[in-house]
Amino acid sequence: MDIKRLAALSDNYIFVLHDPNTHTAAVVDPAEATPVLKCLDKLEAQLVAIFNTHHHYDHVGANNALIEQFPKLCVYGGIEDRGRIPHQQVFLKEGDRVEFANRVAEVFFVPGHTRAHIAYYFPPESAQDTGELFCGDTLFAGGCGRLFEGTPAQMVNSLEKLRNLPDNTRVWCAHEYTLKNLQFAVTVDPDNIALQTRYNQVKEFRQQGKATVPSLLGEEKQTNPFLRWDSVSFQSISGMKDPARVFGKIRGMKDNF
Ligand code: ZN
Ligand code: FE
Repeated sequence: MDIKRLAALSDNYIFVLHDPNTHTAAVVDPAEATPVLKCLDKLEAQLVAIFNTHHHYDHVGANNALIEQFPKLCVYGGIEDRGRIPHQQVFLKEGDRVEFANRVAEVFFVPGHTRAHIAYYFPPESAQDTGELFCGDTLFAGGCGRLFEGTPAQMVNSLEKLRNLPDNTRVWCAHEYTLKNLQFAVTVDPDNIALQTRYNQVKEFRQQGKATVPSLLGEEKQTNPFLRWDSVSFQSISGMKDPARVFGKIRGMKDNF
């Protein structure tokens, strides 16, 4: 399975999963049809699936157009998104499995950004391989999604599921927000050397117009302030130990940053 990253709208990423053996493809969160169709053309691949993480327009915007081009494709999304994702056919819940290119992805129910958000995780095929996590607007490189329909307690619970995955997992998040996220992160975690290093790298990458997605989950665990609610420095910022309250405090600071 090859993964192509396509830029869309102002800062979205769409991911095309390609199976060269069967000339088929699946797409994660198609915001726009044009870049997807161009990519499929180049790959000479038939689109067989849309994997949606949640119902926001910048994730499902091309569902209609793509199903017109490929009437047999299957549209996957979370069960709680019933009625909100155009042409949804499969309604997924925690622990469900979906298949593409002889790989099986595990579904995580990760409410918080929306009440219905799900993530797709393809475990590595061998010990040397990376796992692939498609997490939409739940976990970002250096940050996390805003809480539109969920509580801090729900989001912490969701992020903890993702944090439990192996370090060698590639995090395919849906937006290029990394620089802004890290600009905030260094203000709340100023003594974190790994974070400083990452911030400098990301600044350089963005100056050169390079993408910062995917990142590695191991790096997120070390540097992402929204995965660090149980570190002493974050507990002392908030003066609390309860994960939801530590997380909620940091999320609130980011909302007003
Ligand atoms: Zn969203
Ligand atoms: Fe989004």
